[in-house]
Parts: sequence; structure tokens; C-alpha cells
Amino acid sequence: MPNNSATANPFDTAKQQVDITAKLIGLDAGLTEVLKHPKRELTVNFPVRMDDNSYRVYTGYRVQYNMARGPTKGGIRFHPQVTLDEVRALAAWMTWKCAVVNIPYGGAKGGVICDPKHMSRGELERLTRRYASEIAPIIGPEMDIPAPDVYTDSQTMAWIMDTYSMLKGYSVPGVVTGKPISLGGSQGRGEATGRGCAYVIREAAKDIGVKVKGGTVAVQGFGNAGSVAANILAEEQGAKIVAVSDSKGGIYKADGLNVKAVEAHKAKTGSVVGFPGAKAVSNAEILETKADILIPAALENQITKKNADKIQAKIVAEAANGPTLPEADTILFERKITVLPDVLANAGGVTVSYFEWAQDIQGYFWDLGEVNSRLERTMVQSYNAVHKTAGEYKVHNRTAAYVVAIQRVVDAVTLRGIYP
Ligand code: NAD
Repeated sequence: MPNNSATANPFDTAKQQVDITAKLIGLDAGLTEVLKHPKRELTVNFPVRMDDNSYRVYTGYRVQYNMARGPTKGGIRFHPQVTLDEVRALAAWMTWKCAVVNIPYGGAKGGVICDPKHMSRGELERLTRRYASEIAPIIGPEMDIPAPDVYTDSQTMAWIMDTYSMLKGYSVPGVVTGKPISLGGSQGRGEATGRGCAYVIREAAKDIGVKVKGGTVAVQGFGNAGSVAANILAEEQGAKIVAVSDSKGGIYKADGLNVKAVEAHKAKTGSVVGFPGAKAVSNAEILETKADILIPAALENQITKKNADKIQAKIVAEAANGPTLPEADTILFERKITVLPDVLANAGGVTVSYFEWAQDIQGYFWDLGEVNSRLERTMVQSYNAVHKTAGEYKVHNRTAAYVVAIQRVVDAVTLRGIYP
């Protein structure tokens, strides 16, 4: 892919990905243009009363990228570096992610330029509620359903759900997902991303003849997605987790770490670092660990042309969003390393978000077993579609996932026709 810089404009990258896929599948130029434009963008500037009684004006966005397949879905991030182009790119990626796992959604994303680390809980609540009321005209269970993203969480979703419900005059739990269970959240949502990732690893390993049982795993980023994936691979699939890391550093143990004990150590000390009996390793070394499976589950732009030829894993499963640069994709593909791309490997989260919404609008809730078995079915079917397409087009799984997604979106756009 042409856009190789870690600092590239993300929306340029997103458009280039559409171009590459469109060329591969011979997509009509007009339809390609449709896929390179967000359908609807809202910018809101709104005041928030701060704790010292002064007012500050914040800028927020909500971008609805494509809604041909259904209501749009995507998180809201609170971050000082939010830009409209970043939100557009994230909304495009949500469109493809929802299409890869074949859930009846388009993609959206939202963001507010703010520094939540330097705001009180009261300030954050007032900011969230005012932003929610500013975007209320374009969100709703049948239109666009936000969720948590960077520096937003289930409490943020509870405030948005309440604000929207106050405006309507009745409770509307289906307006957001990632809510607390007591407000209509779903069983299994908290671990869905890591669990979905473990399912696609299992399927890919079968295909390429890697043994997960007794096989070795390294995880960069022992947070929500990474620690759940590690736990499930160890407990349900018999894998040996040999290395894990967090922002403070990493640990390695050749004969396998006790994942639950590492979790307890992290809960007590704030980091995996210093876990008794393990060797200290850096975050760069984690990526190059000798392990069958590598799970980047922390940040973007981790695997680049500088380290792609040093990766020793046979499978790289992207629990994180965007951990591999396009330049590295080519190197990994040539080295016959199987990459399970983010739009597939971490789509368990949005899949269970879809289940949450489905339960909310039915007013009928499923038990954990039902959520997990439906998640498993979705992840296995999605992996199979991507794997089959990679074989047909002789491309790596990332391009294959884009082909699957873009063909599904194009199918919906074409069947609906262009209005009027
Ligand atoms: P999290 O905050 O729970 O965990 C992130 C972990 O990465 C933490 O342990 C943190 O210490 C570690 N980390 C931070 N900087 C690091 C560094 N330089 N090197 C190594 N580790 C570092 O977040 P999360 O929800 O697990 O998300 C992780 C990634 O997964 C993100 O890219 C996110 O977009 C993606 N993701 C998460 C979900 C979800 O449902 N949680 C869904 C889709 C994608």
C-alpha cells in the first residue's frame, strides 16, 4: 500500500485501502467514489461549565460513513488529538469491520477534542451529556448506535443512554452499547474481543497446521483484549503463554506463565513487570519472541519494515487496531506468516455489541452460553469467508477481509440503487 508512514493522514490511508480493493475486484469508478466518502458528518461546538464555574467550548464530531447495510455503529473517543480525518477513517474501518463479520450495520465513529485525564468526573459527565444532546438528532437505535472507545467506558455510555432517554421521555437502552449490565448491557461483552480473537486463532491454526494445544503465545498489551485472549488460549485451548507485556515492560518464561497469577500480580502492583520467576523483556523484544502465535493487543504501528523480518511467530493475530503497517504486511506475507487482520481478529467486540443492541430492542436477554456460542459461530464463519477469499485472490488476509467487506457493502448499495 502506498501510504507507508506511521504519521500518515489516517483518512488518506483508509481511501487508499478502498482503491486497492476496488482495483482488485474491478469495481466501477462511481461506486468506488461512493465508498471513499462519508455519508454524513456532524461537527458540534458546545460549552461546558467547568468546576470553577468558567465555561469552555469543546468541539466534537460524529461521522456516519455508510449505512447501506443498516444503522451505523462505532465508538466515541475523548482525546486531545481527535481530528475530523481520524474520525472519518475510524468510521470507514467500522463499516468494513461490521461487514466482515456480516452484522447488519454500517460504520460510524465519534470524538470530542478534550483531555479527559485532566477533567473531573463532574466535568466529564457534563461534557458527555452536552455532546450527546448535540448529536442526538442523528443517533438512535434505528439510526446510529455509539459505543465506548479511547477514554470512554460503560459509565460514559450510561450518561449518553440517560441523556438520550431524557430527550425522548422514555428509556432507550438500544441507543448505545457497552452499557453496564444493569442498564441493558450484554453478558460477555467485556471479554468478547479477546474471546473472538482466540476463536479466529484456533481456526487459522487448524488451517495452517499450527498446534495451539502446547503451542506458545506472546501477547503485547496485557489489557482487556490481550489478557482475555491469553486466558482463553491457555484455559480452553491448552496454549502456553510464554510472554506478556504492558506499557511498563514485558516478562518471559519459556515453560509458560500462569496467566491468572500474572493477572493477580498486575492487579496488585499495576504491571506485569516484576512477576516472580519470569525474565524481564522489552516491548520491542516481545514482538520478536520465539512463539507460535503473536498477539499485538496494545497500540497501532508496532510491526513495521524495521522489525517485520524479525517476527518469529507463525500467526500474528491483531487484537489491537492497526498494529501492522502496510509495508510490514508485504514482508510478513512473503515470509508466509499468517496475519489475522484487526477487522477480523478484534471484531468479537462489535459482534457482541450487536448482540447487546438486539437484546435491548427485543427486551429479552440471553445467558452467557448463548452469547458465546453465537459469537463463536460468527467468528468461525467470518474467518472462513476471509480465508477462502485470500485463496481465491491469492492475497493476504487483510486484503481478503477488505474484499469480503467491500463486496458486501457494494452488494447492498447496488441492490438498493442510487436514490432518486
Ligand atoms: P486496555 O487499555 O485494556 O489495554 C491496553 C494494554 O496495552 C494495557 O495493558 C497497557 O498497559 C498496554 N500498553 C500500552 N502501551 C503499551 C506499549 N507501548 N507496549 C505494550 N503495551 C502497552 O485496552 P484494550 O481495550 O485491551 O485495547 C487494546 C487494543 O485493542 C486497542 O488497539 C483497541 O483499539 C483494540 N480493541 C479493543 C477492543 C475492546 O473491546 N476492548 C475492541 C476492538 C479493538
